[in-house]
Amino acid sequence: MKYSVLAAVYEKLENTPAKLEKSDIIAKLLKETNIDLLPKVVLLLNGRVFPSWSESELGVANQLMIRAIEKSCGISQKEINSVFNKTGDLGLTVKELSGKKKQATLGKKTLTVEKVFENMQLLPKQEGKNSQERKLNLIAELLSQASPLESVYVVRTILGQLRIGVAEGIVRDSIAKAFEVESEDVENAWFLNPDYGEIATIAKTKGKKGLNKVKIKIGRPIKVQLAEKAPSLEEALEAFEEPVLEYKYDGARMLIHKKGDSVRIFTRRLENITKAFPDIVELCKENILAKDCILDSEGLAIDENNRPLPFQMISQRIKRKYDIQKTAKQIPMQLNVFDVIYLDGKSFFDTTLKDRRKILSKIVKEVPGKIQLSKQLATKDIKKAGKFYKDSLSNGQEGLIVKNLQATYQPGRRVSGGWLKVKPTLESLDLVITGAVWGTGKRAGWLGSYILACRDPETGDFLECGMLGSGLKEKKTNEDDVTLEELTELIKPNIENEKGNTVKISPQFVIEVAYEEIQKSPTYSSGYALRFPRLLRVRPDKGPDEADDLNRLDKIFYVQKGKRQS
Ligand code: AMP
Repeated sequence: MKYSVLAAVYEKLENTPAKLEKSDIIAKLLKETNIDLLPKVVLLLNGRVFPSWSESELGVANQLMIRAIEKSCGISQKEINSVFNKTGDLGLTVKELSGKKKQATLGKKTLTVEKVFENMQLLPKQEGKNSQERKLNLIAELLSQASPLESVYVVRTILGQLRIGVAEGIVRDSIAKAFEVESEDVENAWFLNPDYGEIATIAKTKGKKGLNKVKIKIGRPIKVQLAEKAPSLEEALEAFEEPVLEYKYDGARMLIHKKGDSVRIFTRRLENITKAFPDIVELCKENILAKDCILDSEGLAIDENNRPLPFQMISQRIKRKYDIQKTAKQIPMQLNVFDVIYLDGKSFFDTTLKDRRKILSKIVKEVPGKIQLSKQLATKDIKKAGKFYKDSLSNGQEGLIVKNLQATYQPGRRVSGGWLKVKPTLESLDLVITGAVWGTGKRAGWLGSYILACRDPETGDFLECGMLGSGLKEKKTNEDDVTLEELTELIKPNIENEKGNTVKISPQFVIEVAYEEIQKSPTYSSGYALRFPRLLRVRPDKGPDEADDLNRLDKIFYVQKGKRQS
């Protein structure tokens, strides 16, 4: 297939906001794609050449891309950088510069999807001496064959910035449309084998029957069960006839796949994080008394008193590429296992939690503080439940998950009748915008993310405490929505200066922000970072001097999780 066909589809998708139309466009392409190429085209539509759980990463940063553009177009890095500073997007930069190409384009080959896929897949295989040069050559080869439009998408795909607004749901619906099967069947199959490339092939060759036969496989992650929010502990207890309460551990979801002596760890977003956690791998090898199994758990970074450390410590462990063993010693982990999904050839999707827990207790040899079953209390008594909730919070955990002992494991869904989370809600904060970053792709032309700051009560300065990109809509879906365009227009007059794609904004504009948690952070000048901040509303009625101050953040930080300032 010519890459120009795919590039034209990318362009169309970028310019088509409506989900339904997007899935029509993709379905048409999938129908026309031959079976051998189908998995590759589906991956590329998601901006990937490896499924998400593969350990292979393209590992190309802006600087290497700039050198590849220099080599393929014969344009100086200085010139590339000056256009990049304007566009904030190397894809658009290469397109703009294509007209100035100094290299001969005569007699050049037609770029194919196969060739693009092949070169991109070769990128992570370049290791050791001269690997950067070899990567550069692989990219430059593609760019020298690409038309201006094609080069936009080659660059963006390699940098992991395709952003054509094709979410998983759209791919699911496109496959259903293309091969005349139900979206639900496609999705259920994908929960167990989350690779739409393979799912599309199954849908095309074997239809509904094939999709319904997709099975869980050790070594390949699944979409794990999710929890719904409960309005209160009382209501959570009332929801089930036979509830069991578990600590909601404040760490990272870890799906453990053990096959003989080999252990792999996946996140709920399907990433393979095995390499970062040799200590957990060892713990599992030694203390999981089963040959083959898949367990669901929460990994915690812990201090010397076994109390959870902030989530960033786990992030640090995940990001670490070198000195992994040393970091493992500095930031020890604890694994809290709460479910079994598969054991020696049998999966437990039809087994109740009550029975799964019995099986689990037989196969996990607990080492207190290191690997243990999630702390549980089976009760309907609100007093006992309330005490258990408090214990969890004063232990430094997030709250409780109330589970239905009679429920089966439901991959990929927040189903009522399954798990309900109960955690303290934190009050919203009024914060000042002190900076922003120009958006790219679908968000090009608008300020896409915003730096938040609180007031320093001593000096009146503004101290950064997070970066907000959520809660902003590209289009209004209801009256209260704030669009990126509206916010950009409101903020623009306050721009003080611009550097690259980042702008400094004079601290005048206040917004109200919700968030999951306040964490300690060395990154921001306040010493805190809001986790998952999202815009609730703009507050033109408030001046920056009325924004929340550092004392308020301090207070909330200590109040959350039952911690008290002493
Ligand atoms: P949330 O991320 O707020 O939707 O809460 C759900 C998350 O809580 C899960 O994805 C797990 O990572 C985490 N969690 C912590 N403890 C448990 C537990 N005992 N059972 C299930 N999930 C848990």
